[in-house]
Amino acid sequence: MTLMENLSGLRPVLYALSVFFLIFSAAGCTDAPGNNETDSLTAGYLMNESIKNPVKAHYNPGEITSLYNSAEDLTKQSLDLIVEIPSEKKTFENTMIAYEKTISDFNDCVQPLTIMGYVYPDSEISGEGMECEERYSRFLTNVSSRRDLYDALKSVTPSNSDEKRLYDVIIREFEKNGLFLSDEKLAHVTEMRKELSTLELRFSANLNNDNTKLVFSKEELKGVPESSLSSFEKTPAKDYIVTMKYPDYNAVMTYAESENTRSKMYMSYFTKQGEENTLLLEEALVLRQNIAEELGYESWADYRTDGRIAKNSSNVMEFINALKVTLKEKNANENSELLEIKKRMFPDSEELFPWDVYYLLNIKKMQEYSYDEEKVREYFPLDRVLDGIFATYEKLFGVNFRKSENIDVWHPDVYVYEVSDELSGNVIGYLYLDLFPRDLKYNHFCAAGLKGRSVSGDSYNPPVLLIIGNFNSPGCDKPSLLKIDEIHTLFHETGHAMHFLLTDTPYRSLSGFGVEMDFVETPSQAMEEWAYDPEILKSISGHYNNSSEKIPDALLADAVSTRNVENVNTYTRILADSFRDMKFHTTKGPVNTTDVSYEIYEDINGLKLPDGIRSAASFGHVMADYDAGYYGYLWSKVYSMNIVDEFKKSGMTNRTTGMKFREEILARGNMEDGDVLLENFLGEKPNPDALNILLNR
Ligand SMILES: [Zn+2]
Repeated sequence: MTLMENLSGLRPVLYALSVFFLIFSAAGCTDAPGNNETDSLTAGYLMNESIKNPVKAHYNPGEITSLYNSAEDLTKQSLDLIVEIPSEKKTFENTMIAYEKTISDFNDCVQPLTIMGYVYPDSEISGEGMECEERYSRFLTNVSSRRDLYDALKSVTPSNSDEKRLYDVIIREFEKNGLFLSDEKLAHVTEMRKELSTLELRFSANLNNDNTKLVFSKEELKGVPESSLSSFEKTPAKDYIVTMKYPDYNAVMTYAESENTRSKMYMSYFTKQGEENTLLLEEALVLRQNIAEELGYESWADYRTDGRIAKNSSNVMEFINALKVTLKEKNANENSELLEIKKRMFPDSEELFPWDVYYLLNIKKMQEYSYDEEKVREYFPLDRVLDGIFATYEKLFGVNFRKSENIDVWHPDVYVYEVSDELSGNVIGYLYLDLFPRDLKYNHFCAAGLKGRSVSGDSYNPPVLLIIGNFNSPGCDKPSLLKIDEIHTLFHETGHAMHFLLTDTPYRSLSGFGVEMDFVETPSQAMEEWAYDPEILKSISGHYNNSSEKIPDALLADAVSTRNVENVNTYTRILADSFRDMKFHTTKGPVNTTDVSYEIYEDINGLKLPDGIRSAASFGHVMADYDAGYYGYLWSKVYSMNIVDEFKKSGMTNRTTGMKFREEILARGNMEDGDVLLENFLGEKPNPDALNILLNR
């Protein structure tokens, strides 16, 4: 079942938006040979072919903090130097480019430190990572509110279109932060933005550290496959301990025959961190409104959409309202069907509840297609699927993937792949994969940029990206086996990875997925569609007992067709969350997020929610950069379907179309507006009805 988690959560655009950057030594930021004795501001930062570790993987207590301290000090010094250049000597190069480089260097140094807050298997070290993230966010808020810096940057003149793009993006960011306000008002806005970022980080940390668990007997978990049961911890009395992490939640909600078990799971999942996170979110919403008003916008949603493709909140509302008509009706029909199934199975039932939906959708799949998901999974061991996905990208994009054996990692579960150019053989970038759940680890799916790509003279800094996943851990006698929707997730996240790693822009801050929020999910959501192409699926399959045994055609056909069973449910959930996000961010005055969540869920999903639900408290996206941005999944999906249709004309592994996609979209980052890049790739304006095409297929 596709959960929201497959829509990447954690700040995948950490890398972009309001943050940019200059020249300081990142000495100590990597443990690449020679990086520790640098004496110039840039030397030693740049990596070369002899690099051993693209990012540092082991830390002693205090080390992350001290690396962060020196990075922040050096960045501040570099920024001061830019400001101090006499105005007659200021040039685009020594001011705007220098600023961009400083902030990019700062990012490249700090992202590998802050990510440790999400993955490091030691609470003291991961706590330092989290703390640095908070400081990082506050520091950048200060930087982007510096009037001296803004004046310096604004005073230089770009001389070509690339420079103009950089200038426009950076100046817009400063202006959106209120640089046109009086000093007093600006200081007030900056203070509020710092408070906001603290609330956001606390909200995310609460979810990350959530330890809610339920205990169920074997009987209560009847129906849950052995592969999942064997991954649960047990009490001394041999009962099962089920966490709220993705694989556990998913297994119980999809397979547990007992309605009581599913309702308990649902309630726990949607009440976790209920009290504290609801308060944090509601406080953040008020702050956001105040900030938007100070900056002259009607609402936070108008503020956030300014500069995106959608441009303003009314365009977003128009877009999601148009989808609502179609989806609500389809979803209502589906609910009636599910209720019929439920009544056939349990003649006393009269109502369909939210915790029935995944379970009954799975029953529907089995009934309509005699589809056995467990049987399908046997053909998709994680390693085999990864090899298959990489082979697909090799065909499409002219690259090679090689697993690196001797790069240091923070946990034995982490793998690193080196991505190189097929023609030249040169390393393009590094892809880290941390794919199984464990304590202290971020519990959803995401792609996080750790270092941007940059070229300086003969030196090449490869981009580095990490995918965090939470697939079923391998059992004692079986590898990790994936369902089709998990293959979908893997294509999605590796799609983000390709966007980040195949970038080829002159500026790091405009590279990779540092694009508009309503375009950022375009490549990833396009790549998802490869997971439903029968030929691709067959090629990436291989039974876990015998990898040369491909998935049988009949099973494959069922696996692909069952997607339609889930489509309506998936898009309805995304739509409801888009409405909820927009309502949170267009309302005036205090928002009761619980009431809004109930109202929208019951209107769009058409089911009654039980009392006591606090689902907004675990709506991580709205506190992690997707605020007034959740609609971007649907907006981008329309673009994605246009891309997929273009591939369908020539074949899903056609190199010519693949290279065009790489060159016109993936490589171009934020060098032009997303809709312009798309039009360049398509050779025409995108078809706005593509989502309907998806729903009606
Ligand atoms: Zn994504």
